Amino acid sequence: MLKAGYTSVCEFHYVHHAPDGKRHANPAELAQRVVDAGSETGIGMTMPPVLYQYSGFNAQPPREDQRRFINTTEAFLDLLGALRHARLEHGALRYGVAPHSLRALLEGLDAMSPGAPVHIHVAEQTAEVEASLAALGARPVQWLLDHFDVNARWCLVHATHVDAKETDALARSGATAGLCLTTEANLGDGIFPAMDYLNAQGAFGIGSDSHIGVDWRAELRLLEYGQRLLRRQRNVLASSRTPHVADRLFQGALEGGARATGRAVGVLVEGARADFIVLDAGHPDLAEQTSATWLSSVVFCEHGETPVRDVVVGGERVVHDRRHRDEARHYADYRRALSHLVANA
Ligand SMILES: [Zn+2]
Repeated sequence: MLKAGYTSVCEFHYVHHAPDGKRHANPAELAQRVVDAGSETGIGMTMPPVLYQYSGFNAQPPREDQRRFINTTEAFLDLLGALRHARLEHGALRYGVAPHSLRALLEGLDAMSPGAPVHIHVAEQTAEVEASLAALGARPVQWLLDHFDVNARWCLVHATHVDAKETDALARSGATAGLCLTTEANLGDGIFPAMDYLNAQGAFGIGSDSHIGVDWRAELRLLEYGQRLLRRQRNVLASSRTPHVADRLFQGALEGGARATGRAVGVLVEGARADFIVLDAGHPDLAEQTSATWLSSVVFCEHGETPVRDVVVGGERVVHDRRHRDEARHYADYRRALSHLVANA
């Protein structure tokens, strides 16, 4: 058995107006559906509704394709208030805020409850860095660090394009870098300077942004492989204290993930949620190994079915023998949702 905190941060985009301009279900109701889906499937959730106010850095009006994400600070607070009332926070549910731009952040941060997790997508692509330099005279992460008390309640999602100074300052801030490796690879964003950041004791979590994949093993593998390909070296993210790369990355992602979600997860201790996975010791990738190298095999080997046999969430077994308790229904729902999206694309 291996302890794990499989948690998810779900960002709810304010889908009030679709690109066709038609009004859809009200945003609080949509957000409640997302919360309900999390509790039904057994996915712990920290939901920071997205405050997405402007396009670019100079309060330019939103582009047509961004209109459905637009929010005002008042609408955002209404949404949060309605959500908090309809679905109370508990061990598996927490609310936060995700300003989708530095400008939105300026208006939204003061309105939030103190201590709530703050998630911001930043420095994902070089064009954003150039636009920030032109408009603000500073790189986006540097600007953020200079203008806000960025601390452990913050998660900077992506932070892909940070220079050496920003890397060091971000690590020292106590914020979590929210790395979305398969998304960033799929979008051709770039490679986060993970070696320097980890050497500076920076906190990181892993996640998915575009949901091109939602497999924590693939995210951790790509975190290391990106560095290997870049440097033409092996075992880049190992350390003298933790010589197995997978051990360091798994433990680091648990700690950073718990910090970014602001919930008591990631450790098996009294007061924390009992979230863990059970491995199949008879799986070919594990059977001939000792437990000291199981995690390396789980992260880096990929032969046939997953070695993750069971998933226990909040003490409840939601995946048993590689099958989710409600798998057939969820696959059917997923197909229905996809068919709706394709038909309306
Ligand atoms: Zn993003």
